[in-house]
Amino acid sequence: MTDLAAAARALDGAPALEVLRWAAATYPRVALATSLGPEDGVLLDLIARHDLPIEVFTLDTGLLFDETRALWRALEARYQRSIRAVAPAQTVAAQAAEVGDALWARAPDACCARRKLAPLAAELARHDAWITAIRRDQTADRADAAVVEADRRFGLVKVNPLVAWTSAQVWQHLADHDVPTNPLHGRGYPSIGCAPCTSPVAAGEDPRSGRWRGRAKDECGLHQREAPPSGAAGRRLPVVDGVAAAGLRRPS
Ligand code: SF4
Repeated sequence: MTDLAAAARALDGAPALEVLRWAAATYPRVALATSLGPEDGVLLDLIARHDLPIEVFTLDTGLLFDETRALWRALEARYQRSIRAVAPAQTVAAQAAEVGDALWARAPDACCARRKLAPLAAELARHDAWITAIRRDQTADRADAAVVEADRRFGLVKVNPLVAWTSAQVWQHLADHDVPTNPLHGRGYPSIGCAPCTSPVAAGEDPRSGRWRGRAKDECGLHQREAPPSGAAGRRLPVVDGVAAAGLRRPS
């Protein structure tokens, strides 16, 4: 039994705020990686209203919708908190000059590796734990995600406070607390990523079917459990007695 497994059991079913408080108390170097989606809005709302010492950043691929950029600014204004931009090494123009235009249309995995995975790996190397907004019912790959788990891909601890939430619970929280959301959700975009790789979905379609439509891809790779990307290999997971640190009762 590892400490993380014990923490996962102790926190399973706990309110998201309790999980966030545990993460902030356990890991001084912890950050929320927000994609500015609805679930991220819930987490930012909880972090900001309860003044938790959790850094917040977003991956700015240079290919976000204008509506997403406007939401970014609206959230910063609403909560008086910076959502720091983490950008790829190359601008979109520099990438096109090196490997040709519209890499996302020819090789989306390679494009995500350059514009999302590499900058995220570099950013997460500065942290001991990261908070994500994944929910178990979003994709098959996320179905067995734990509330706290080892992220062997990036070599740190991954905290998923909303892992057991439903989409309805997310939207209820957003409405209850008047959290700004992306207007594209009302135009048929339940899941929003980079503009070139996101299309609206029809009624009854899987909410994520508009991401990389027509391609055998439903993840950027940020949440896959496989070999680490360049730069993340060999990192040692921070070992803490998270259960004791948070004053949680150990399950028998
Ligand atoms: S989502 Fe599309 S545009 Fe964005 S990084 Fe991935 S492939 Fe490139």
